[in-house]
Amino acid sequence: MKRLFSGIQPSGDLHIGNYLGAIRNWVRMLDDYQCIFCVVDYHAITVDYQVEAMRQRIFNAAAECMACGLDPGRCVIFVQSHIPEHTELAWIFNTVTPMGDLGRMTQFKEKSEQHKHNVNVGLFDYPVLQAADILLHKAEAVPVGEDQIQHIEFSRRVAHAFNSRYGETFPEPYHITPKIGRIMGLDGKTKMSKSLNNYISLSDSAETIRSKLATAVTDVNRKRRSDPGNPEVCNIYTLHRLLSSDSEIEYVNTGCRTAGIGCLDCKAILAKNMIAELEPIQQKARELKEHPQRVWEVLEAGKQTCSLIAVETMREVRTKMGLR
Ligand code: SF4
Repeated sequence: MKRLFSGIQPSGDLHIGNYLGAIRNWVRMLDDYQCIFCVVDYHAITVDYQVEAMRQRIFNAAAECMACGLDPGRCVIFVQSHIPEHTELAWIFNTVTPMGDLGRMTQFKEKSEQHKHNVNVGLFDYPVLQAADILLHKAEAVPVGEDQIQHIEFSRRVAHAFNSRYGETFPEPYHITPKIGRIMGLDGKTKMSKSLNNYISLSDSAETIRSKLATAVTDVNRKRRSDPGNPEVCNIYTLHRLLSSDSEIEYVNTGCRTAGIGCLDCKAILAKNMIAELEPIQQKARELKEHPQRVWEVLEAGKQTCSLIAVETMREVRTKMGLR
C-alpha cells in the first residue's frame, strides 16, 4: 500500500470544518493506504500562543481525531516535536529551496497580514517544514484542502530538487483533495477558523450549534423570506451536502430557489443532522478525555513507529550528502 501522510494543527478544539473537510475523509482512506497522521505542534508555534495551554491542545487534537474515527489499530498518530528529524530534514531542505518560491506562497502572504506584529522566519519557512514532514516518512499521498495544494506542489519541487542534487531519495508526493466545496466560516467571508471565531466546535452542545447556525450568514441576496435564494452561494447548503440525506438536500435546493422554505427552516434541518453526526464523536471524546493515558499511549506508540522510519531516512540523506 502507498503511504499517506497528513497533519492537523493543535489549535484547541477541532471544528466542523476540520472534521468535514479533512478528518472524515482520512477515516475513509484508512484501509486503502498505510496512514500516518501528525499533530503538527511545530507549525502551531509560528503564531503567538499560550505556552501553558499547548500540552492540552496537543492532547485534544489527538483525542478528537481518535474520537472522529482515526482508529490507532489502523493508522499511526504521533506528535511532530517528538521526532526531531522533522526539523533536521527541514534545515537540509532549506539548502535546496530558492527564497523566491517561499515568497510566493499564498498562505504566507495571508498569515503575514493576519499576524503583522509577528511575521517570523518560521512562518516564512513553514512550507519547508511541511515538505520535511511528508518526505521524512517517504509518503506519496497527502490529503489536503484546496488551500494547501500549493504547499504540496512545493513539496514535490523540494523532493525533485533534492533528488536531482543528491540522487533518487524521495518520492514526489501528490495531493488528494476531495471535491466538497470550500467550508466557510459562519460569517460567510473566510475559511472556518478557530482564530477568527467563526466556527462550530466538535464539542459544542446541541443548543450552541442551533444558536450559532441561527446567526450564520446565508445567501446575502436573500433578504426577505419571500425572496428566492441561490443555494450554490450559501455555506449552509454546502454543509447540507455533507451532512443531510439526498431527499433533504433536494428539498432544501428546491425550497430555497422557490422561496418555499425560509432560512430558519433550512438551518433547523441542518442543525438536526449536525447534532446527530457529532453525538457519537462527542461521546467517544468524553471517554478518551476521562482516560487520557490511552491517548498518550497511542502517541508514544506512534513516536516509536515513526522514529524508525525517520532515523532510516536521515541515515540515507546524510550518506547521500557526504555528511557521514
Ligand atoms: S434557504 Fe438554506 S440554502 Fe437557501 S439561502 Fe437560506 S440557508 Fe441558504
